[in-house]
Amino acid sequence: MNDYNNQNKLTQLSEIGEFGLIDRIKNKIQGLSTDNLICGIGDDASVSNISQEDKLVVSTDLFAEGVHFDLVYSPLKYLGFKVISATISDICAMNAKPESVWISIALSSKFTVEAIDELYDGITNACETYKVSIAGGDTTSSKSGLIINVTASGFANQNEIVYRNGAKPNNIIVTTGDLGGAYLGLTLLEREKRIFLENPEMQPDFENFRYPIQRQLNPIARNDVKETLKSLDINPTSMIDISDGLASEFNHICKSSNVGGVIFESQLPIDDSTKNLAIKFGIDPTIAALSGGEDYELLFTVSEDDAKKLVNHPDFSIIGVINSSGICELETYKGKRHELKRTGFNHFEPKDENS
Ligand code: ADP
Ligand code: MG
Repeated sequence: MNDYNNQNKLTQLSEIGEFGLIDRIKNKIQGLSTDNLICGIGDDASVSNISQEDKLVVSTDLFAEGVHFDLVYSPLKYLGFKVISATISDICAMNAKPESVWISIALSSKFTVEAIDELYDGITNACETYKVSIAGGDTTSSKSGLIINVTASGFANQNEIVYRNGAKPNNIIVTTGDLGGAYLGLTLLEREKRIFLENPEMQPDFENFRYPIQRQLNPIARNDVKETLKSLDINPTSMIDISDGLASEFNHICKSSNVGGVIFESQLPIDDSTKNLAIKFGIDPTIAALSGGEDYELLFTVSEDDAKKLVNHPDFSIIGVINSSGICELETYKGKRHELKRTGFNHFEPKDENS
């Protein structure tokens, strides 16, 4: 019998957290690389040589029922769309063009054939939206619920690829879209689920909050941004997608690039319906934007000259500036600066009892 569960001698996952664990795996496999792998663990996707000019970009994401989604309020069709969006988002975060996906599913006996048809309606709808092919996958049984793994590939030219590690002091920090909506949508759905379970007669009224709910259940990856930036002749210096929350992703860019920076609270793009829902729940909209995950927008840095081309562009918000301090900060409405810790979603936090 192995001794992996001996709690006295061994390290708990919660002691090092998700990112500590990934760092540990990265250190363990050092030296395993091959000549054509340019970027392995540590960015949104790996990058490999096809030729001197052409690069293959690959990313993979795992979604487990009860951890990443709740089928009480996530229709399977929406879930199918969302898992493709989430994975394609990592390809977009490298400034690459998505090409194919591979989908693997583990199914428990509670799922019917018709349910899987519905899941695949959402998957195929997303693949049509992103113009990607489904190139394969794997199917197996599961002892508990549904597990979905999506791998996505994409292509980019050598000089198009953008990594997390290229931010430089005085670069301007930019985000696409608006933030915090997916988290507020989740908060609303969780609340309605509790009410429904206590009183199944009660019908939820989502009328005023369709937008945050759509942001949670049916996110769209920003596969349009690569073309928009190209048309504006903008070359981002670093880029990441916002899947775990702005604070977490800002920290990833700064740590990878060995820089610091300031984000201005007054510049955070937050939709009005997200703000109203936050107020209803007594949640600070800024906290939702910084720490709520799953917005699947893109966070990137550009030179000061490139930033001028983005001023007043409807797709982008200038939210901060990079410096050499090595510290990530938020400047509040009142002009006070606070260190912005990596407060995004982290699997294996002490409170996580699923693991
Ligand atoms: P994202 O949030 O962009 O999907 P993650 O935080 O999941 O990225 O992963 C960060 C990096 O760590 C990626 O390069 C990913 O490929 C790598 N990674 C995550 N888990 C593992 C693992 N179990 N083994 C090897 N690499 C991993
Ligand atoms: Mg990512």
